[in-house]
Amino acid sequence: ITFLHSLPKAELHAHLNGSIPLPTLRILLEQYQPDDLPNSLSKDVIEAQIRKFEEGVGLNKISDFFSLFPAVYALTSSPEASSIATRAVLDDFLEPGLDGHPQATYIELRTTPREIPGKMSRREYLEAVLKEVEARGRESAGLIVSLDRRMTSEVMHECVGLAIQLKSEGRPIVGIDLCGDPQAGDVENFKPHLTQARQAGLRLTLHIAEIAETSPDEHRALLNLGPSRLGHATFLPPSIREHYFGHVSVSEDAPADVITMSRRVADKPCVEICLTSNLLCKTVPDLQAHHIRAYLKNSHPVSICTDDTLPFRTSLLGEYALLLAKPPHGLGLSREEVVAIARMSMDSRFI
Ligand code: IMP
Repeated sequence: ITFLHSLPKAELHAHLNGSIPLPTLRILLEQYQPDDLPNSLSKDVIEAQIRKFEEGVGLNKISDFFSLFPAVYALTSSPEASSIATRAVLDDFLEPGLDGHPQATYIELRTTPREIPGKMSRREYLEAVLKEVEARGRESAGLIVSLDRRMTSEVMHECVGLAIQLKSEGRPIVGIDLCGDPQAGDVENFKPHLTQARQAGLRLTLHIAEIAETSPDEHRALLNLGPSRLGHATFLPPSIREHYFGHVSVSEDAPADVITMSRRVADKPCVEICLTSNLLCKTVPDLQAHHIRAYLKNSHPVSICTDDTLPFRTSLLGEYALLLAKPPHGLGLSREEVVAIARMSMDSRFI
């Protein structure tokens, strides 16, 4: 643990509303005013969901995962509540925990702009989140604006416009993410918005090939946008990896090439790896079969991330511990490899 704490690490893939600490959810529940909201959930329904988070959510498949969010969203439906949630998430990653050490040196938090008619505009939501991110300083935190695959084109347009505008005002918006249910939406509709963001100087990180059912056409369309990082990239077929990244087939027991791995960060999109998330969403059967091994063997940059600490009950330190732990509980990597991976996360920041 001392060794893991000693490494500078960047958390590059954490969804704000998926990372709210449980005690903060309870505080927000006490302040919750269901009558103020359209189609509001009752306190009892939210309480039951919080209890499920406390006990550990059981997911059969990734689509179950997206149904966890309405209860959280109910609690963060005002600028004030969103500020409280953001502050708690940033504290969780950046402030010393019970063991006296912060989990991360730097975080690029991501969130989807929310609108609650009559209560909060997308701009007001982003302003509330940004204020908290700004309070940490650019050396510690940046914000990525997420586009949800379920958004209409008009809403995506509004979100990208807001991101560009706020960035031009000097606010710490560092990139655009494409997220949400991987079975929803059509990449052709996202392309113009992602292109506009890229042309305006925002870096792209795209959830890609998160489930086996996504098509090679979609993979190619997303990779052709020139993303700087990729989320999950679990099911990118070897032929596409070879075409875009020059990957070669390597034997299962070939060692990872740590030195080349750290040198190549600049020219390949870093893959944001979320080990526990993939295991609990059942997109990988176990750590021995995890796609991180293929990326490491191909000297492809990766960063270790948490995704959603709330449902997955994990931490950045816990994810790094999985790298070091011996199989079958972990990947059994050497300290030298873990040092290189932590360095890649710092080198893959959008700042
Ligand atoms: P928010 O963007 O701060 O509201 O964070 C929660 C949202 O992140 C969810 O509603 C999903 O759209 C998105 N999200 C969280 N985890 C994943 C994932 O593993 N894949 C795709 N989208 C995700």
